[in-house]
Amino acid sequence: MRIAIENLSVCVYCVSVIANGEAYNEDGDDVSADFAACHVDRFGPGAAANLVLDHSDDEPYFSWSSCDACGSTDGGDRFNAALLSGTPTDDQRAEFLAGYVTAILWVNAYRYDGDELVSDENATYAYVAPGTWYLNTGMSLTDAEDFLAENYDVLTYVIRTSTDATWSRHGHDFALTRNGHGAGFWDRGYDTDAANWLTCNAERYGEHNVITDDSPTVSDM
Ligand SMILES: [Zn+2]
Repeated sequence: MRIAIENLSVCVYCVSVIANGEAYNEDGDDVSADFAACHVDRFGPGAAANLVLDHSDDEPYFSWSSCDACGSTDGGDRFNAALLSGTPTDDQRAEFLAGYVTAILWVNAYRYDGDELVSDENATYAYVAPGTWYLNTGMSLTDAEDFLAENYDVLTYVIRTSTDATWSRHGHDFALTRNGHGAGFWDRGYDTDAANWLTCNAERYGEHNVITDDSPTVSDM
């Protein structure tokens, strides 16, 4: 397991749930289930296993900012925590890859016009089909698979905290961001830290262009 999101600032109730699996309010009522439900809501079904306290910085600090784990806006002590990595489901992976391949065909596909390489405006229409067509275009999916695995929990976090985010759009945004287009993870209105994280990590992969011809598959440039 590796750290997917660092520097989460969490309240004392969340600390108790993360550390002990239970929490009690000032009246002594068991509020464990409420907070655990918040964590699942924000970080996915793996929250109980993936949220950990950052013991390198045990001292609490007072803050009015909302708790990153439960959303509570009550002022109080905050502690640092982190979210560890999970693994994409088959459906998430399929949506991500389909979104990625569609975007590459849309904006990074070229064809030869004589000796000249020109943008292939029709590539999307030529290849997109029902089913798992995106696995059969001949396009390399290594980077997309790698990015998805490496950034899975941040992508999950964005989906939990933004109504616009989907796995398909994430695949789309990986293609746009790595290729330096005028849209991508950074301009969706996502949580700033998450958007910066995803943008930096996408840009590390560099550009990905493909060449189309009249054959059923494309070639990586
Ligand atoms: Zn909390």
